[in-house]
Amino acid sequence: MRKPIIAGNWKLHKTLAESRQLAATLAKELSSVDHCEIIIAPVYTALSGVAEEITDTPIQLAAQNCYPAETGAFTGEVSPLLLKDAGCRFIICGHSERRQLLSESNQFINHKVAASVNAGLGAILCIGETLQERETDQMLEVLTTQTREGLAGITTEQMASIVIAYEPVWAIGTGVTASDQQAQEAHAFIRGLLQGLYNQDVANTTRILYGGSVKPNNVDGLMAQSDIDGALVGGASLKAEDFIRIVRFE
Ligand code: PEP
Repeated sequence: MRKPIIAGNWKLHKTLAESRQLAATLAKELSSVDHCEIIIAPVYTALSGVAEEITDTPIQLAAQNCYPAETGAFTGEVSPLLLKDAGCRFIICGHSERRQLLSESNQFINHKVAASVNAGLGAILCIGETLQERETDQMLEVLTTQTREGLAGITTEQMASIVIAYEPVWAIGTGVTASDQQAQEAHAFIRGLLQGLYNQDVANTTRILYGGSVKPNNVDGLMAQSDIDGALVGGASLKAEDFIRIVRFE
């Protein structure tokens, strides 16, 4: 009932030519995939070029960020409407690297989520606790606050455009993955939050992705968990062979 999503976050990697080449390889190898949705998120400057490579394939384009305004005096920023114009279908909002490096608040991230949805795009809202928060028993509180504040004002109907990515900060780019059980517990908790904030139907239908050192050798165990509906993949999405294997999870 929830179609899985495998999403690749290319972060600040690859030139336009390299991005096009990886996208072209994925387009060729994954042209007949139907068991899951596939999303790739290159850097801004490669979006239009990658969009050309994945035209008429099952691969969808995402941006790694946006600015929550339509137009105006916001030097250096890019709006959801312009990202849609470049071919995007989704926007990643609130990635932990932006929360940490750029001090993005839940309120600011919420504005990005709302702006993305209002532009007719899907929003992938990233949430997740730090190691210190986990070790001091603040994990559930952090996930609750990030979910509630990140989704403030998002209606039940708009939830159809929302994907949640649970990404424990301690597992991102570290090679340390949450165990299948740790990830399942967090996902079940988040699904419960959605039920409380919205209703059972929203809880049942919202896709919740796991992110944090997902690799070809651990994706199958994670995807076997009942509340894990896909993966947001960083490092392993940069190598065609690895990402293709992750898309072909068993
Ligand atoms: C990410 O960038 O969202 C991520 C999960 O990275 P990695 O897979 O490298 O941990």
